[in-house]
Amino acid sequence: MEKPVETRRLTKRYGRTVVVRDLDLTVEPGEVYGFLGPNGAGKTTTLRMLLGLVRPTSGSALLRGRQPGTGGHLDGVGALVEGPAFYPYLSGRDNLRVLAHHAKVGRKRVAAVLDTVDLADRAGDRYSTYSLGMRQRLGLAAALLKDPALLILDEPTNGLDPAGMADMRALIRALAREGRTVLLSSHLLGEVEQVCDRVGVLSHGELIAEKPVGELASGGTLRVVADPAD
Ligand code: ATP
Repeated sequence: MEKPVETRRLTKRYGRTVVVRDLDLTVEPGEVYGFLGPNGAGKTTTLRMLLGLVRPTSGSALLRGRQPGTGGHLDGVGALVEGPAFYPYLSGRDNLRVLAHHAKVGRKRVAAVLDTVDLADRAGDRYSTYSLGMRQRLGLAAALLKDPALLILDEPTNGLDPAGMADMRALIRALAREGRTVLLSSHLLGEVEQVCDRVGVLSHGELIAEKPVGELASGGTLRVVADPAD
């Protein structure tokens, strides 16, 4: 069976700087994989290569068996990787309807995803009135419009307050229970412990450790990247 995510010796250089080096990353169907590393480790660059937004210097990146840029590469994939371009003066619902129109998705689906991310009550309010947590959840709703089997989320709780973080983490777990595969990046060890099944630690562009979350005992390399506040 093809893997949701599979990279082979994936490498990205900018000039002389190697940002991602020989990365072999495999995400299994149905798992929540946490890509853990401090700022600048190369997480965003890796996710952007998977999505075809950044071209690898060498190596390969496959999503559901397909290479970036090939037809249908992103079929079945939902992503939250950068502040999505929502219109501030449109409501959350109307913003999703614009995206749904382009994605050829019906209004029922818009209502369903708003419900999933717990925004149904505020769906009629302007996007500009939304908190950061609500904006992130609307971004997730947009990623869910086409009912993807795989979700790629770049630091989905970044900048959120504790309640917003808790909501987002619970939501990700709920989406995983529905059978979706999730690849998410984080710089918080506590977060991947709560949310993920397996974790890979990226340091200076290299995968230096990979373990099921249950085996994340104290000590060792993994603590090095733990957020001191966590
Ligand atoms: P963050 O949490 O800050 O997003 P990250 O682990 O996602 O961290 P990346 O954003 O992938 O890290 O960046 C890894 C390194 O690559 C950083 O040192 C960054 O400065 C560098 N980098 C990223 N994009 C470019 C670019 N377009 N040109 C040059 N260097 C870049």
